[in-house]
Amino acid sequence: MKEVILIKLGEVVLKGLNRRVFEDILLKNIRRRIGDFGGFDVREAQSTVYVVPRERADLDDAEERIAKIFGIATFSRACEVGKNMDAICSGAEQYLQKELSAVKTFKVECKRSDKRFPLNSPQICAEVGGYLNERFPHLAVDVNHPEFTVRVEVRDFAAYVHGNARRGAGGIPVGTGGKAAVLISGGIDSPVAAWMMARRGVELTAVHFASPPYTSERAEQKAADLLRRVGEYAGRMTMFTVPFAKVQEEILAKCPEELFTVIMRRFMMRAAERIARKEGCGALITGESLGQVASQTLQAICCTDDAAQMPVFRPLIGMDKVDIIAVARRIDTYDLSIQPYEDCCTVFTPRHPRTRPGLNLVRKAEEPLDVAALVDDCVSRVKITKIEPNR
Ligand code: ATP
Ligand code: MG
Repeated sequence: MKEVILIKLGEVVLKGLNRRVFEDILLKNIRRRIGDFGGFDVREAQSTVYVVPRERADLDDAEERIAKIFGIATFSRACEVGKNMDAICSGAEQYLQKELSAVKTFKVECKRSDKRFPLNSPQICAEVGGYLNERFPHLAVDVNHPEFTVRVEVRDFAAYVHGNARRGAGGIPVGTGGKAAVLISGGIDSPVAAWMMARRGVELTAVHFASPPYTSERAEQKAADLLRRVGEYAGRMTMFTVPFAKVQEEILAKCPEELFTVIMRRFMMRAAERIARKEGCGALITGESLGQVASQTLQAICCTDDAAQMPVFRPLIGMDKVDIIAVARRIDTYDLSIQPYEDCCTVFTPRHPRTRPGLNLVRKAEEPLDVAALVDDCVSRVKITKIEPNR
């Protein structure tokens, strides 16, 4: 029996004239991402992508990978059969035997995109349903609330039989939405922010600020590990680790303690933007959420924004922590995020940060610093790590 995966496209189909471009990028993404698991033919026809394994290709692994590719609404493993009722009926009997034996009620749904096929959809459903009922006498047909639905698709070159489809990762294909640099810490929020933007088609580059000797190698490792998890959806990316201790020491020495955090965040923006431009990115991404901590009040965010010329995407801005955590669990970053390694933000935290810093006050407080030289220096010592997604 020949088994394939049928993929139904998500929002891609809505994109009018750009549709071709979107589909091409999606096909390329699928080919690249399942290429690890053997040879597959991946082609598209009538808004469906067919993934057909060549010999020794692993369909189980490919299926799990496909579940994490953006731009896919639903997908199902299906059995490919000849375009005649005998093949369709016996194909359904064999391929879905386990599922049909485990339920009491079922129905058959049919989609006939080849209008030359001699039977119409209701006739196909009736014939397949009757056949299966004979072979599985314990089954009753229930068209309203069946426990299991047998799906038959009669397409151009073959017919396909499958059960319920699985939900895909949604969104639009990575690479259709430009490129942006995510500021990635070791926390819960920034990996979720990165994932959300990748889901909107954005290709990611990552910038991480590390403060050796105040922070350990393990803290940086944690950020890389988180990116590998995000990369299971977003694909491969580059992480730029910026040594940040010198900047922090300067701020600590020359600026009021209560403004330390907001000034540090302004430096993060400047350094990240410098790297982002070099990498051809059009925006920055952070995991900020309004009101979550002192540096994420409206006033503090305004001060942070002022240091960046690029648009800053903050996809979590209106989300509650519980909702963010739910996404973190879904994408499997939560357990890693809550491991206790120090972050560069926590080593110098002031005791009483100012929650409503005024922009003029902050700009004035920065005057003793040689901003350009500090940014140049930390960016020139950046370390580059290639992030290959986990299998
Ligand atoms: P997170 O859970 O992402 O660490 P947070 O709730 O701890 O966020 P902050 O520490 O104020 O909040 O950081 C806000 C945002 O700034 C983070 O979401 C991230 O985008 C960026 N950021 C913070 N620390 C770092 C770091 N060490 N390297 C890179 N970006 C960082
Ligand atoms: Mg944090």
